Amino acid sequence: MNKASHTDHHIHLFRDGRPLSLKELDWLAELCERAEIKTLYDMGSKEGLGFRFKEGLETRGITLKTCGYALYKAGGYGGFIGRPVNGPQQIPLMIRELYERGVDFIKVVHSGVVSYNKEGYVTKGGFLREELSLIVQVAESFGLRVHCHVNSEHRIIEAIEAGVSSIEHGFFMSRRALEMMKEARVSWTPTACALLSLAERVSSEEAQFYRAVVRKHLEMVKEAYRLGIMINTGSDAGASGIVHGEAFLKERELLEKASKD
Ligand SMILES: [Zn+2]
Repeated sequence: MNKASHTDHHIHLFRDGRPLSLKELDWLAELCERAEIKTLYDMGSKEGLGFRFKEGLETRGITLKTCGYALYKAGGYGGFIGRPVNGPQQIPLMIRELYERGVDFIKVVHSGVVSYNKEGYVTKGGFLREELSLIVQVAESFGLRVHCHVNSEHRIIEAIEAGVSSIEHGFFMSRRALEMMKEARVSWTPTACALLSLAERVSSEEAQFYRAVVRKHLEMVKEAYRLGIMINTGSDAGASGIVHGEAFLKERELLEKASKD
């Protein structure tokens, strides 16, 4: 099995939506071991738990790549996983601080999340184009790549144009966006299982909506494989209802199926 199959590219240092404590690292390490996960990509917590847990996980045999906390536009989605940016003048300072604290990459939030109850099916969130471009530019000046939480076609396209390295989630992906990703060598972490698990906890009408979104999403994943886009396995584990290790194995199975169809 290749190295990628031992990496969960999208987790949060939470347990069912609640921040982990140092005492819970044994628990997390055990769940990772059961799923044969060797590397975790921490996509952020407002507390910056990745800075605190990196060493402890290392001693338990797990490499943690962390963004510390994500950057999100004040007033939009991102409060649990990041810290708010209140205007472009803060961007260089915030990225410098993350760099100095030793992050492995920058995580940026460029949209809300998929929600049946919201117009356009994505909640509020994301930066102005210029702000997102500035984030990527500053990050690059520190040698850091930018992983971008983003849903809905026009937001995904903005993210690709701004120069992010990876699209995280990417619900409501389009063929046009995929072509652009191929061209710009942007990778994709589709986190399909995360939305499926949400479908298990809502009314049947809502569940139907989420399942249909995931079906279309996986069609796009198939297309991405056909185009030769790099697809990462990421579970979004730690978010409520999404269990570390277990969710990774489910996601890997879904992606493997999509890659073969
Ligand atoms: Zn996430």
